[in-house]
Amino acid sequence: MIDEPFFPTTDVLRSRDKAQLAFHERAARVAGERFGRRVFLRAVVEVSNFCRENCSYCGMRRDNRDLARHRARLDQLAELLVHHRPASVTDVNLQSGEDPVAVREIVLPLIRILRRETPLGISVCLGTLSRALYDQLRVAGASVYILKFEIADAALYARMEAPGTFEERIEHIRALAASGWNVSSGFIAGLPGQTDAALLANFSLARGLPLEGCSVSPFIPGDETPLAKAPTAEIDLTLNCMAALRLMRPRWVIPAVSALNLAEPGAGYRRGLRTGANLVTINLTPPEMREDYLLYKRDRFIMTEERILSAIEAEGLVPSNRSLAGYYQQEKSARVSGRSPRPVVAAV
Ligand code: SF4
Repeated sequence: MIDEPFFPTTDVLRSRDKAQLAFHERAARVAGERFGRRVFLRAVVEVSNFCRENCSYCGMRRDNRDLARHRARLDQLAELLVHHRPASVTDVNLQSGEDPVAVREIVLPLIRILRRETPLGISVCLGTLSRALYDQLRVAGASVYILKFEIADAALYARMEAPGTFEERIEHIRALAASGWNVSSGFIAGLPGQTDAALLANFSLARGLPLEGCSVSPFIPGDETPLAKAPTAEIDLTLNCMAALRLMRPRWVIPAVSALNLAEPGAGYRRGLRTGANLVTINLTPPEMREDYLLYKRDRFIMTEERILSAIEAEGLVPSNRSLAGYYQQEKSARVSGRSPRPVVAAV
């Protein structure tokens, strides 16, 4: 199957009702042809809420002095992931604010333990770091780096105080891919000040980057941020962006993000699974750390194992028994050998 030369229009991204439903069904069909009914199932643990960046849309920004800052305990996370993770989880994502101390003291030794003690595929989402730290993480055993470009419009990126500079962020994405990482990125839909052209720019940028996956997060006005009073992104816009990504790049891994349930409580997440998303994430962060991991709201909607499994079952999907890291490896080998990509999981 060859990637379709699909590129969204504003009309498609703004579609509603019957046209929108047909668009989502088309995206779900494309995902089904490639991945069957299976979705990748990973766990996430949030390692530290210290952050040296100051994104206007995030409550963990460094200027938020009201937030109690914590780093997780290495032994606690190791025990949890080695001995108490749900049986269906094939991969883990170690996520943190941009906190190199946590990377050195917790993430790196944790990856070494996981590599030694478990078959888990290991993803990290740790922000922009030094080349030396990227290399150490990869040597330790992580293979997927999640670095969201967040905003493709450089002026809006600067206005939102997104991490570092736009140019630097893109350069890091390219450098990670060039040094052997499988890179997944992502952007925010419905940000205050995001024009139609700025929204479409996210697709142009994503299309040109060396990515294996991409996410769309609805803008959620975060507690304790300068944008706290701005309106929440429309769930329909976010879902249309997810469907457009699936049609633009059928082979990509596209997650259903937990914020879908903040954009449309009770229904957003399951609707995301109907747009061709093929990755779900169970949050295993120890309960005492969750409240202060303030990406959006203090009152978080935690995607527990039970919620995730019941959502995918309700949508007629099943957990993949192949890891995300294994899928990426297979994709890469197929590209290197010149074999055409093929469906990687049998339809069930
Ligand atoms: S979005 Fe990430 S980099 Fe930006 S302030 Fe929040 S945790 Fe830090």
